[in-house]
Amino acid sequence: MKIISNPFELKEYLHANKSIGFQENQSIGFVPTMGALHEGHISLIKKAKEQNELVVVSIFLNPTQFLKGEDLDKYPKKEVADTKLCQLSGVDVLFFPNVNDIYTQDEVSVLAPKVRGFVLEGESRPGHFNGVLTVVMKLLNIVNPTRAYFGKKDAQQLNLISLMVKQFFMSVEIVAVDTVREKDGLALSSRNAFLTKEEREEALKIATSLRNATAMVMRGVLDSKEITSNMREILAPLHIFYVEILNRNFNQLSHVEIGNTIILVEVRVGTTRLLDNIWL
Ligand code: AMP
Repeated sequence: MKIISNPFELKEYLHANKSIGFQENQSIGFVPTMGALHEGHISLIKKAKEQNELVVVSIFLNPTQFLKGEDLDKYPKKEVADTKLCQLSGVDVLFFPNVNDIYTQDEVSVLAPKVRGFVLEGESRPGHFNGVLTVVMKLLNIVNPTRAYFGKKDAQQLNLISLMVKQFFMSVEIVAVDTVREKDGLALSSRNAFLTKEEREEALKIATSLRNATAMVMRGVLDSKEITSNMREILAPLHIFYVEILNRNFNQLSHVEIGNTIILVEVRVGTTRLLDNIWL
């Protein structure tokens, strides 16, 4: 596995590889992450390996997507373990840039759409998605992959990145990957490391609320208000940022449409924000 921190070196390496070893139709799969890798990240890497000749993973804790006072400084960092995991997962190139490799002063940046980028997570974290889209634009331009892999767990992020790629006429395929969960249903997240034992128990209410919503739909209850109020009851002791039932284009639905629905939840457990969703 080749480890590169300089964007220009990475561009050159991938380009050189293409001209020596690669045929024109060979493909690059790209998995951008912020590190503290877990099975969720690994499933993105596995998918990328299945579908591409070369797999590039980036580990970059992107400061511009954190608001002032958020958990940037205490976000878990596991460089050695992450490198090992990438190696074991068959990653070809690990891109590990420093902040100064990616950002300068007085930057050109991407703005998230004024509505879709400032609802749900974007409402309580205004500007978060400007940072996400800017760094993803930079990373996609550096790697120039055939396909890039994102988790359905961060459904709004996935939606906005897909919009950006479409609206900026970029030629990369965005691949959505299913959420990986613990046996008890808790969605894997680097932020789970912040949870105490008691908080982890509390966090299970998220998965319970989504399971309950699914069961209601299976019983034929499709009314969004009925489902979300039931979910809110389950989640009640936690601080709820939102519980929403949307279609795949992120428009509100009054009734669940099977095959076109995402039920999204974001809560705070202790001081930790956790989000999850289910695609029906
Ligand atoms: P992060 O390191 O949190 O920025 O996540 C990097 C990528 O992994 C994003 O595309 C996430 O949506 C995805 N991801 C995070 N958690 C999971 C999970 N439990 N299952 C699948 N993908 C995930």
